[in-house]
Amino acid sequence: MSTTYRLGVLEGDGIGPEIVPSAVEIATAAARAAGVSVDWVTLPLGAAAIESHGTPLPEETKEALAGLDGWYLGPHDSVGYPEPHNSALNPSGSLRKHFQLFANIRPAKSFPGAKAVCDGADLVIVRENTEGFYADRNTFAGTGEFMPTPDTAIMMGIVTRAATERVARVAFELARSRRKKLTIVHKANVLKLTTGLFRTVCQEVAQEYPDVVVDDFHIDAMTVHLVRRAQDFDVIVTENMFGDILSDLAGEISGSLGTAPSINASATTAMAQASHGSAPDIAGRNLANPVAMILSGAMLFEWLGARHGDAALTATAAVIQRAVADTIAAGVSTRDLGGTASTTEFTTAVSKAVHDGAGQG
Ligand code: NAD
Ligand code: MN
Repeated sequence: MSTTYRLGVLEGDGIGPEIVPSAVEIATAAARAAGVSVDWVTLPLGAAAIESHGTPLPEETKEALAGLDGWYLGPHDSVGYPEPHNSALNPSGSLRKHFQLFANIRPAKSFPGAKAVCDGADLVIVRENTEGFYADRNTFAGTGEFMPTPDTAIMMGIVTRAATERVARVAFELARSRRKKLTIVHKANVLKLTTGLFRTVCQEVAQEYPDVVVDDFHIDAMTVHLVRRAQDFDVIVTENMFGDILSDLAGEISGSLGTAPSINASATTAMAQASHGSAPDIAGRNLANPVAMILSGAMLFEWLGARHGDAALTATAAVIQRAVADTIAAGVSTRDLGGTASTTEFTTAVSKAVHDGAGQG
C-alpha cells in the first residue's frame, strides 16, 4: 500500500517560472521511477498573486500549505513589488515566520566534471532562520527596523537560547550523520552579547555530542577560510544573516550560486527553496540553472523520507541527485557552470538521465 504525498508548487517571480517547472518535471520522473505517488498542488504567490489576489502571499495559499506534506517555493523578486508590498515582509520571510521553519539547511557540494573555485567542497551550512540580525522578521508583531527621524534608521538583532538550541541540535545531528565536524560561526569579538550567546549555547549543546569535533570562527575570517580551504569544512552553524551571506559564497565557490539548494524545516514541515534569488538579469531567457531548485526538491524528498520512514521517498531523492550529477559529469550544463545548455535543454538531459538510471535499476 503506498501513500500519496501532496506537495505545493509556488513558482514565484523572475526565473521562478523557468526553474520550478523544471524541478517538478524531474521530481515527477524520479518519483515514478522510485514508486512514489505525488499530487502537485499549484498555489498563487509573488507578483502574479499581487495581480490576482492583491497580495504576494494570499491567505488561501498559507491555508492550503498547512494541509500539505511540504512545498517547492520559487524565488520572489520582492525588490520589484509596488508599495505597500515592497515595504512589507517578503513572501519567503513570511512563510518561514508563519510556519516557524527555523532551520535553513544549505549544502554546498562541487560536481565532478564542472569548474569550481573549490572543487573539493562538500559542506552544509545550517542557518538559524527565525531571528538574529534579520530585523524584518525577528519580532512577534511589528518589525525590528524603525526610523525615529527621516535621517536615522535603527535595527534590532535578537538571539535567544531557545532558538539557538533548536538549530544547534539540527546541526549536530547532521554532523553526526556526516564527517562529525561542526564549525560555529559568530562575531563574538565585537557583538559579544548576541553572537556571544549564540556561540555559548552551541558550545553547551556540543556537550551532548562528544563524538563531534567542534571549532569556531568569526564571520569575517570565515569567508577567507571558505575560499582558501572549503574542503576542510563539514557542517557550519550560524545566525540568520551570516548564514544567508556565507551560503551564497559557499554555493558560488563550489560551482555556481545556481547550483546551491536548500530546505527550510520545522519539526513538522519543510519548504524546498533554492538559495538564490529571482535573477532578474537573466529571467525569461531560458538561461537559468535549475540545479539549485531541482536539488532543493531532492532535499525535501530526503527530509520527507526520514519523517515518514518511507524508503521510496529517500530513493526518489537519490534518483534526482544521481541524474543531476550524471548529466553534469557527461558535460551538459548551463552557462554559469561553463556549459552552453539552456534551462530546457538541461532539464531534458536530466530527465533522460532519470530514465536511463531507472533502466539500470
Ligand atoms: P540573485 O540571487 O537573484 O542573483 C545574484 C546573481 O546570481 C545574478 O547574477 C543572477 O543572475 C545569478 N543567479 C542566481 N540564480 C541563478 C541561477 N539559478 N542560474 C544562473 N544564475 C543565477 O540575487 P539579487 O540580484 O540580489 O536578487 C534579485 C531579487 O531576488 C531581489 O528581488 C531579491 O529580493 C530576491 N531574492 C529572493 C530570494 C528568495 O526568494 N528567497 C533570495 C534572494 C534574493
Ligand atoms: Mn540570500
